[in-house]
Amino acid sequence: MNIPMVDIKKQFLEVKDEVYREWGNVFEKMQLMLGENVRAFEEEFSSYCGCKYGIGVNSGTDALVLSIHALIPEGSTGVITPSFTFFATPESIVLTNNIPIFVDIEPETLTIDPEKLSSFLSTLERNREGHPVYKGITIKAIIPVHLFGNPARMDRIIEISRKYNLKIIEDSAQSHGAEYKGKKTGGLGDASAFSFYMSKNLSAIGDAGMITTNNEELAENMRRLRIHGQTEKYRHEDIGYNSRLDEIQAVVLRAKLKRLEKWNKRRNDIARIYLDELKELPIELPHILHNSKQVWHMFWVKCRERDKLLEYLRKNGIGAAVHYPLPCHLQKPMKDYPVVTTMEITEETSQNILCIPIHQHMEDKEVFYVIEKLRKFYK
Ligand SMILES: *Cc1c(COP(=O)(O)O)cnc(C)c1O
Repeated sequence: MNIPMVDIKKQFLEVKDEVYREWGNVFEKMQLMLGENVRAFEEEFSSYCGCKYGIGVNSGTDALVLSIHALIPEGSTGVITPSFTFFATPESIVLTNNIPIFVDIEPETLTIDPEKLSSFLSTLERNREGHPVYKGITIKAIIPVHLFGNPARMDRIIEISRKYNLKIIEDSAQSHGAEYKGKKTGGLGDASAFSFYMSKNLSAIGDAGMITTNNEELAENMRRLRIHGQTEKYRHEDIGYNSRLDEIQAVVLRAKLKRLEKWNKRRNDIARIYLDELKELPIELPHILHNSKQVWHMFWVKCRERDKLLEYLRKNGIGAAVHYPLPCHLQKPMKDYPVVTTMEITEETSQNILCIPIHQHMEDKEVFYVIEKLRKFYK
């Protein structure tokens, strides 16, 4: 049996008829960028997240970059980020001429550890605006990452951010539809960045992204930034970007958004089966979190013999993968940026983690095949 990590073909077949019909209309009108489907999708997706505004952009990375740019236009400030995330999170901080400040994750959610963060911040002097200052770097924002579909501990993060006057930019690239205490990710901070890259819970058929926010002025700024800082044709108010969402992608995203709840539910059902059937094995499994609805972007296991297990699963046709083998603070371009807490959970997780396939089109027999192979490995 061959079980991939994602099956974008099956996803596409499910929406194909609708998509082909709508594409027909798009090609009839030839309004290809930022047209009616983009506007409709911005409206549909932002309201799905419980948010007032949505700004469609080119990618999740751009969604982060535009959010940081709009919230801290002055640059040269410190932005707090976990190290255990996809590289684009700290990369977007550097791309906007800011400084990533790396903090460890907590073992239960694998998201940024608010207690370690809070202890670090409490040691710092603060400037007149109440911003903490670390070795001459004024810290103005934090990017919690809702990793693998798990919301970060937002009530603690919001509390800390109020105390230290930090802007919150959620990295929601892996958490479409996830909830924290009954509220969807995307509306829990000042702005939130979503990616619709092919492997995400909601995906386009190429690159695409969106920023959600409840702040009207910020939304206006970001709308301007995505087209060269333009206010009207050939009038430029800022140095911006070229980061438009196109109609081809918006049509696909609208069709898939209608199925997202159903798809996330199927992921959750598979996760329950894994948790139940694998609990006797000598591996660590993800926790069910009581304050959150997780959307299982990834299903991880942790074990000491990770590399052997990975090789064995791959040999058996199971598309297992390591997310992420090298934490961001140890990546070459990041090595000069500050690491301000111990990194034991980040480093231990990178060494022991393995993700096994979980996606909405997996059939029960495929789920049980993965379980059977895992059991066999430990026999
Ligand atoms: C995918 C991802 C991004 C980047 O999104 P792109 O659309 O690939 O640019 C950023 N952060 C995290 C956590 C991601 O998983």
